[in-house]
Amino acid sequence: MKLRPEEKVKLKAAHDADLKLYLEKIGLLEDLKNGKLRCSFCDCVLTFDNVRGVSKINGKLKPFCQKKECCLEKLKKKFIHI
Ligand SMILES: [Zn+2]
Repeated sequence: MKLRPEEKVKLKAAHDADLKLYLEKIGLLEDLKNGKLRCSFCDCVLTFDNVRGVSKINGKLKPFCQKKECCLEKLKKKFIHI
């Protein structure tokens, strides 16, 4: 199925809102806003533009960025939000 451009925008917006709510719930939203949150895999500073999700490894929350390597890394582990 091919999405029209405006539908793509809607999907993206829904994803962003969900992720923001989720980060707030687990207490990471403030860190993200303040530039204190880093990707657990490549150690880059996470922002709203590059944060992709949070995985849970050994009971610890590990936020990660949208780089392909980091997303692939996450796929090997259990992830709780994308
Ligand atoms: Zn990364």
